[in-house]
Amino acid sequence: KAFVEKILRQRSLEMRDQQQAWQESLEGRRMLEFRSSLPAYKEKEAILSAISRNQVIIISGETGCGKTTQLPQFILESEIESVRGAFCNIICTQPRRISAISVSERVASERGEKLGESVGYKVRLEGMKGRDTHLLFCTTGILLRRLLADRNLKGVTHIIVDEIHERGMNEDFLLIVLKDLLPHRPELKLILMSATLDAELFSSYFNGAAIMKIPGFTYPVRTHFLENILDMSGYRLTSDNQIDDYGQERIWKMNKQVPRKRKSPIASAVEDALRAADLKDFSLPTQESLSCWNPDCIGFNLIEYILCNICEHERPGAVLVFMTGWDDINALKEKLLIHPILGDSSRVLLLTCHSSMASSEQNLIFEEPEDGIRKIVLATNIAETSITISDVVFVLDCGKAKESSYDALNNTPCLLPTWISKVSAQQRRGRAGRVQPGECYHLYPRCLHDAFTEYQLPEILRTPLQSLCLQIKSLKLGSISEFLSRALQSPEMLAVQNAIEYLKIIGAFDKNENLTILGHYLTMLPMEPKLGKMLIFGAIFNCLDPILTVAAGLSVRDPFLSPLDKKDLAEAAKSQFSHDHSDHLAVVRAYEGWKDAEMDLIGHEYCWNNFLSAQSMKAIDALRIEFLSLLKDIGLVDSNATSCNTWSYDVHLIRAAICYGLYPGICSVVHNEKSFSLKTMEDGQVLLHSNSVNARETIIPYPWLVFNEKIKVNSVFLRDSTAVSDSLVFLFGGSISKGDGDGHLKMLGGYLEFFMKPAVANMYQSIRQKLDDFIQN
Ligand code: ADP
Ligand code: MG
Repeated sequence: KAFVEKILRQRSLEMRDQQQAWQESLEGRRMLEFRSSLPAYKEKEAILSAISRNQVIIISGETGCGKTTQLPQFILESEIESVRGAFCNIICTQPRRISAISVSERVASERGEKLGESVGYKVRLEGMKGRDTHLLFCTTGILLRRLLADRNLKGVTHIIVDEIHERGMNEDFLLIVLKDLLPHRPELKLILMSATLDAELFSSYFNGAAIMKIPGFTYPVRTHFLENILDMSGYRLTSDNQIDDYGQERIWKMNKQVPRKRKSPIASAVEDALRAADLKDFSLPTQESLSCWNPDCIGFNLIEYILCNICEHERPGAVLVFMTGWDDINALKEKLLIHPILGDSSRVLLLTCHSSMASSEQNLIFEEPEDGIRKIVLATNIAETSITISDVVFVLDCGKAKESSYDALNNTPCLLPTWISKVSAQQRRGRAGRVQPGECYHLYPRCLHDAFTEYQLPEILRTPLQSLCLQIKSLKLGSISEFLSRALQSPEMLAVQNAIEYLKIIGAFDKNENLTILGHYLTMLPMEPKLGKMLIFGAIFNCLDPILTVAAGLSVRDPFLSPLDKKDLAEAAKSQFSHDHSDHLAVVRAYEGWKDAEMDLIGHEYCWNNFLSAQSMKAIDALRIEFLSLLKDIGLVDSNATSCNTWSYDVHLIRAAICYGLYPGICSVVHNEKSFSLKTMEDGQVLLHSNSVNARETIIPYPWLVFNEKIKVNSVFLRDSTAVSDSLVFLFGGSISKGDGDGHLKMLGGYLEFFMKPAVANMYQSIRQKLDDFIQN
């Protein structure tokens, strides 16, 4: 022990010398100059002394004030200065992998080092961490996994949980675990960092922990809502919701042009949106209008118009456009690239910023473009707080973000664009005032803004809890409901019960809520349990390749495009893939076709001809690789994946895997004279989404459909489905022999008993028993 101590002391001395040398170098001094301009830097001493006096401290400050890049660095620097560098171990968690990577790169360069020296990062499947790494940026998920191996976090001296205001599920979960750990590790420091004002909530959760606010400064931002934007652009809204092109008309008359008879596309789009939401005079903010108002239909034209206006008439400064999601960003980008001004690369540098972008693209976002070139960044809400683009002066805000939500009563999860909260809108606006006074264009009327909720609901209250329940069990944290009752805000009991019930039905829990072996494997696969189950099946029964595609396909946007004006052609193209009564197999066939075409370098053409989204195909391709490496990691597939595809051509087996994964998402098919109807246990009659391959059939030659997702609009719709036989449901649906078998038999509603000879039923029962034993063990 003394020997180790001696080496670490020696190493600490070296670290101090190295740090000093950097700080005295020219580059180092320049860097320090930048750093000391950040508001957080002015609080350095106060922060460090507060940390030394308190075990838990909450630090809040405006986005961009230097929390993420500076605070962990202050701690590291001060430890190194006092020759404890090699003894400290700082972990800073980020909600997203992209911020973990980009922040660690930034901090390393601020310290004049390469990544993997004193500063490193670790995210799922990727990392840069060396023997001498003492400051590690990682995703919250990575720290949770580490807790699985080492409950006491031996050797860790500081934990910094960043962006807690986002209230992600993992962060809320981590806080419960850390709260329990603190009394056992009195010397461990916990620092919580947050952008907005919620500090008191966290402080009271940690028994009145200290709060520090970093004072910030932002320039004023002029705010325009839709009505002002229309006004500026020469449109006016009349009392009956008509858009009057009065300004335009004046201009035309001045130029002696004949006024156009037809309305401009922006005017009619806004009109339509207002009419749909029944908003007269921008003054009827009801929840109803909120749900009917569709920014997408006015969005693109209006955004193009405003961007163009900024480029032609406004002072220099970067533009940040907040969009709903990745798909919208890409669609808009394609539109802008063919625009005469916005697509002209000698005038505009068009960039995107979302969680799946490459890191080379990331760096471009921070760079200032050459003089005369305007930087326009199309971003998701990731640019709201976690990534700061320094030179932004103009912000466009579409008002929506994709959020995962969950309806506990109907037990239906969904990832839908929803309205942001007032706090988010304010945050987005603030991004415009970092370097000089800015402008923010909200692409919705002020009355809608006034109807936004104050804060967003924390994830733990709005998403299904299945994965969380698995994690609680694998960390051996005792009773799930008891554990979750200690959360910052506890989820509804009904949601917890639903999750536990689901995990029993799929065979991940036994009847006492303990993990089965299947459940144990599922905890090691960070994805929805149903996808994990499918993959496990594919690996065990050697039909992995198509299952990788099915699981990936369920995680990306529907690859089959259906443009309004070419619906028939698109449908015809899709029908070549859809002869199996399965939307999931249709994706497999489309992907395989694309993959072949890619080999011949005609992937793009293939997508175009078959109405497929090239983006989705690439996303599937990338996810397949990720899934495969996860399966290798946990030892279900050997490292060269030799035998895992022996049965990949067997459609029945693939159907079985899909059934195994998607159960209890199942409905029965009842044929009547000309067509068929569908029923589920919970909803009664359900309908197929019109894009489903099964929606075009008049007969389904199977008694069941399994599905991934149902959506409630007016009726309940199944988005995608695969037809399966009795025997598949009986053999692979849920778990009969172990766990809560009743649930499964109830689902079948006595159907099998009624139609099947007892001898056949017995045979199934015994095969099922063997199968379950096999899969479980
Ligand atoms: P906070 O966490 O308080 O929101 P950050 O620590 O992320 O703030 O950022 C502080 C400052 O550092 C910002 O002004 C930002 O512009 C700058 N910055 C952050 N990352 C980079 C980077 N990779 N390159 C250049 N500047 C960066
Ligand atoms: Mg930050």
